[in-house]
Amino acid sequence: MRLAAEEPHPIRMPFNDLTDEDEVALGDIIAADLEKEIQIVKNQIIDAYLGNIVDKLAKSSQRPNLPYRCKLVNSDEINAYSIAGGRIYLNRALVAFVTSEDQLVATLSHEIGHVVARHSANQIMLTFKARHAYELVKNHIPQHSQMIDAVIEKLGGAVAMLAMLQYSRENELEADKLGFYEMLRAGYQPSGFLKLFQMLDVLEKQSDNHPVPLLRDHPAAADRARAIKRELAVVNVPNSATTDSLSFHAFRLAMNLLPAPPKPESDHP
Ligand SMILES: [Zn+2]
Repeated sequence: MRLAAEEPHPIRMPFNDLTDEDEVALGDIIAADLEKEIQIVKNQIIDAYLGNIVDKLAKSSQRPNLPYRCKLVNSDEINAYSIAGGRIYLNRALVAFVTSEDQLVATLSHEIGHVVARHSANQIMLTFKARHAYELVKNHIPQHSQMIDAVIEKLGGAVAMLAMLQYSRENELEADKLGFYEMLRAGYQPSGFLKLFQMLDVLEKQSDNHPVPLLRDHPAAADRARAIKRELAVVNVPNSATTDSLSFHAFRLAMNLLPAPPKPESDHP
C-alpha cells in the first residue's frame, strides 16, 4: 500500500490498443446510441457553465487533448458517468444533491479521472473481447460503421452496456486521486471531495434497500475520504482555491426551471 500521497500515472493496458482518435470515435458512436435512450438537457446557461468547468479540469489533467464534454441528463437518479473519449453525463438529481460547487467539481474531476486512466475504454473493449467482437469493433471504428451499433444493440443497448461495465475498487480510488490533482491545478478547493464523501456516506446509510447508481461498485465513502485526507495532508492548497460560486447557483436555478424528469427510470447505468 502506498503511504505517501502521490499523483498516480496510469499505464496503458495491453488489451486496449485503441489510439486516442479511435477512442474518441468509439465514444461518439456509443454517445449517439446512449442519447437516444436518455433525456439530454439543452440549455445555454447550463451548457456554458458545465463546458467552462470541464475545460478547466481537462486542461489540468494528464490527457488534456481529448474533446471532453459534459451533458446534463434530466434524470431523478443520483448519478454521473463517463464513456470512452471524454464524454461525461451528469444527472440532474446529482446536481440537486450537492450543496456547493466544489462537490460538483469533485464529481466531474472523478469522471475525467476515469477517462484519463482509460477505465471506461478498457472496460468497453474487455466487454467486446468477451463477446468476440473486439477486432470487429476496432476495425470498424474509423468508418463509424453500423456494425458497432449492431454489437451494442446485441448487448441490450448503450444504457444496458454501460451498466454492465465494472470498475474495480482500485480504478475508483485512482479516479479520485487523479481528480483530486486535476481539481487542485484547476484552482478549486480539493477538499470538495471530502464534503462530497460525507454526503455520500449519509446517502449510503439511508439507502440500504434502494441501491444508488452513483454508489454502485464504488468503495465505501469513508474509505474514499481517508485516501483524500492523505493527499490533503501533503499538498499546499492556495487560499484562493474556489469552493463555491455565484455561477454555480445560477446554473442550479436554471436547472430548477426545467420540466420534471421523466419516470420511471429504473434501468439507467
Ligand atoms: Zn467512478
